[in-house]
Amino acid sequence: MEIKLTNTLSGKKEPFRPITPGKVKLYSCGPTVYDFAHIGNFRSFLFSDLLKRVLEYAGLEVKKVMNITDVGHLTEDDAADAGGEDKISRKARAEKIDPFEIARKYEEAFHEDEKKLRILPADAYPRATEFVEEQIDLAKKLIAAGFAYEAHGSVYFRTKKFEKYGQLSGNSLENLIAGARVEVSGEKEDPLDFALWKRAEPNHLMQWESPWGKGFPGWHAECSAMSTKLLGLPFDIHTGGEDNIFPHHECEIAQNECSSGGKKSVNYWLHVKHLLVDGKKMSKSAGNFYTIRDLLEKGWKGEEIRFALLSAHYRSTLDFSMKSLEQARASIARIVEANRACLDTEFEEQNDFAEKYRAEYQQALADDLNVAGALAPVFALVSDVLKLNAEQKLDGATASAALDFLQNDFDPVFDCLPREVKVNELEKAEIESLLEKRVAARNAKNWAESDRIRDELAEKWDIEVRDGPDGQTWRVKE
Ligand SMILES: [Zn+2]
Repeated sequence: MEIKLTNTLSGKKEPFRPITPGKVKLYSCGPTVYDFAHIGNFRSFLFSDLLKRVLEYAGLEVKKVMNITDVGHLTEDDAADAGGEDKISRKARAEKIDPFEIARKYEEAFHEDEKKLRILPADAYPRATEFVEEQIDLAKKLIAAGFAYEAHGSVYFRTKKFEKYGQLSGNSLENLIAGARVEVSGEKEDPLDFALWKRAEPNHLMQWESPWGKGFPGWHAECSAMSTKLLGLPFDIHTGGEDNIFPHHECEIAQNECSSGGKKSVNYWLHVKHLLVDGKKMSKSAGNFYTIRDLLEKGWKGEEIRFALLSAHYRSTLDFSMKSLEQARASIARIVEANRACLDTEFEEQNDFAEKYRAEYQQALADDLNVAGALAPVFALVSDVLKLNAEQKLDGATASAALDFLQNDFDPVFDCLPREVKVNELEKAEIESLLEKRVAARNAKNWAESDRIRDELAEKWDIEVRDGPDGQTWRVKE
C-alpha cells in the first residue's frame, strides 16, 4: 500500500515517506482537560486513531504521542498571543476545586471516553505541567538564538524575525501586521509577538519558578517542547483540528525551526475539518452540543458513535445527527449479520472471493484515507454474502474468505464490531479454559489465582466475571 496524505503545509496530496523506513512518529494535539471533550474534539482524536490504524494495517510501526494540556491554554486563543484566563484555572475557580484536581478529573474522563470509542492508546500522554522545565529550556534557547526576549517577567517570540511565519495557514506577515490588535500593555516589541512564558499574576493558580520569575508556559510552547523531547526533530506527522492551524501550529513551527537552527520540524501536517450538528455549528446555546457521555446516556453504543464520527472524509465537513447514528447502527447490524452467516458455515480453506473487495478497500484507504471509498467494497461484500446466504448458496470456502476480510482487514481499521463477534474460535477455547481454571481455584480457596484469572479475562477480552449464589457467571463489558 502506498499511502498518500494531504499535507496542509503544501496544500497537496503527497506520497507518505517516513523518515525511518517502516517507522512512523506521530504527534496529535490532545485535549485541554477543563471539561468533558465534545464530539467535535473526538472527531479529531478518532481521525488520529484511524490514521494510526491505517499506517499499521499498511505494515508500518507507529509511535504516537498525544499531549494533555493541563496548563497554559487561555480562553482567548484565536490570536497567536492568546489573552484571557487559563481555561483550567477558570474552571477550578468556578467549581472551587484545586486546578490540578480539575485537570486530573477531566483527563481521566477523557481516557474513559477514548476507551468507549475504542481509540487505541497512544504510546505517551505527556502532561504540560510535567514538562515545564523543557518549556523553560525552549524559551532560553530561543532567547539565546535572538528569536525571543524577556519583558517584565514574560518571554515573547519575535514573530517578524521568522520570515516563514504564516506558511502553514497561508497568512502573510503583511496581512497579520495589518490585522494585529493594538496592544494595551505595550511590553512587547511588536504586536505580532507571542508569549512563550507568561508572568504569573499573584492570583494565577498554577505557577512555577523560572529564570524570569514566577510564571507559567504558553500553550504553543508546550506542544513544541513535548514533541521535540519525545519524538525528536524532525518527526513524520502532526495532526490536529483545523482550528489548530492558526495560531497554534503556526507558532509551533516557528518555535521548532528557530530553536533547532532552521531544521524542518514536521514533514506532514494533517488537519481535520469541523463538525456540524444538524447542519449547524455545535454550541451549548443552540442546544446541539454533545459530549460522548450525552450520547451514551441516550443509549448509543461506543462503536456506533465511533462509526458515525469516522464516516466522513477528514477533510470534509461532517454533518452529525441522530440520523447518522441510526445509520451507523444499521450498518453495523448488517455487517454483524453477514459475519454470523459466515460463522454458521462449515470451515473450509478460503477461496478468492474477497480479493477484489480487498484490493478496492486498500486502494481507497491508501488514497488519503478515503473512508467512503473503503466502506463501499465492505458493504458490497456484505450484500453479496447475505444474498448468497438467502439463496442457500454460501459455501464454506467463500464464507472463510469473507470472514478473513471482515475480521482481518475491515475490523482492525474501523473497529466497530460488537465485542462478542470479535472473539474467534481459538480465543473462545482459551476463555472457556480460563473460566474452568478459575472455578477450580475458587474451590481450592486460592483467591489470589482466582483474582488473577478474573483480571486476565478483563484485560484481554473485557470480560466481567461475577460470583453469585449459583456460581460463576460472565459477560462482555459494554
Ligand atoms: Zn498542540
